[in-house]
Amino acid sequence: MTNVNAYAALQADKPLEGYSLERREPGETDVEIEIEYCGVCHSDIHTARNEWGGTKYPVVPGHEIVGYVTRVGSKVTKFKKGDTVGVGCFVDSCGDCSNCQDHQEQYCEKGSSQTYNSYLQDKKTPTYGGYATHIVVTENFVLNISDKLPLHAVAPLLCAGITTYSPLKHWGIKNGDKVAVVGLGGLGHMAVKIAAAMGAEVTMLSRSKEKEKDADALGAHHFELTTKPENMKKMANTFNYIIDTVSAKHDYNEYLTLLRTNGVMVLLGVPPEPAPVHAGRLIFGRKSLVGSLVGGIKETQEMLDFCARHNIVSEVEMIKMEQINDAYERTISGDVRYRFVIDMKSLKNNVN
Ligand code: NAP
Ligand code: ZN
Repeated sequence: MTNVNAYAALQADKPLEGYSLERREPGETDVEIEIEYCGVCHSDIHTARNEWGGTKYPVVPGHEIVGYVTRVGSKVTKFKKGDTVGVGCFVDSCGDCSNCQDHQEQYCEKGSSQTYNSYLQDKKTPTYGGYATHIVVTENFVLNISDKLPLHAVAPLLCAGITTYSPLKHWGIKNGDKVAVVGLGGLGHMAVKIAAAMGAEVTMLSRSKEKEKDADALGAHHFELTTKPENMKKMANTFNYIIDTVSAKHDYNEYLTLLRTNGVMVLLGVPPEPAPVHAGRLIFGRKSLVGSLVGGIKETQEMLDFCARHNIVSEVEMIKMEQINDAYERTISGDVRYRFVIDMKSLKNNVN
């Protein structure tokens, strides 16, 4: 066991604070990683504050992890000391069920081990995430990172990147498809970049007028304010796909009317409260309302390679670990351009 510095939420209504964590010694198939950067996902906030229920405290959030390999177990074949690597939203799965066999470990039938607030496959050892100086992960759940891209800006690809890439790929977004992205935050800005790189005609739907210029710079072809009813009316029957990344309660029915016949609305945001859907909004026009959870390991590697080829990284604002509580408040109020990333040096130098 190695003691490492971390930051944890100890209860739902308290700020995160310095915490000392025990990481296991790397086993035969394990990779030990010194974490350089970790992105701040809205899921970290939902979990730290127990907004979805089921948070087990202390929780160490963080599932957009990049860093360097420091040690490997004797049977590790894919990585060696010094390699640049990443870890995303889960750190293990059963490996046997049909979904794992099909490279969709995120849908493991026996339950994947999420990077934090979850258990390893023994179903009793808790997992702790990337707001820490080190992590130990079995090699099949570690990703290769290209040295072509700036490492701090790659971190958010491990969640925001794959979560948006996977549905765009699954539903076969192609040249000329009209894709709307709802909510310009961490996921939203990656959805715009990736959909545009796939050849889609991208419309950004946002509440925030001041983000219009940024949407254009990110590659969106159009920008519409969702707060103006006349805008929503004008866009009726327009889109083949809607990628909804909104983290708070909103009316899905309003957006379903913007889909063309056979259109698909993909829910990625996970507002804590359920929302009613009118059957008529789906029936008239044979529309689909679907959801998608991150992406499998093979697909995550494919996304990282796609981003390296297309020079796609996240737009980031760097913070020190001790700024995390302020970063949470700013994320909740929509004031993030477009992902906070923690520089883990701030924690390494700051022994608890
Ligand atoms: P984020 O950076 O906070 O972005 C969310 C965006 O939604 C905001 O920037 C804002 O954009 C919009 N928004 C926020 N509150 C709103 C409200 N009350 N009404 C309308 N729009 C609102 O969050 P994120 O990290 O991208 O995560 C987004 C959601 O996806 C979270 O619920 C997160 O848990 C979830 N998530 C899901 C998966 C998955 O696998 N499905 C993976 C990661 C995260 P505008 O200012 O442009 O309106
Ligand atoms: Zn995430």
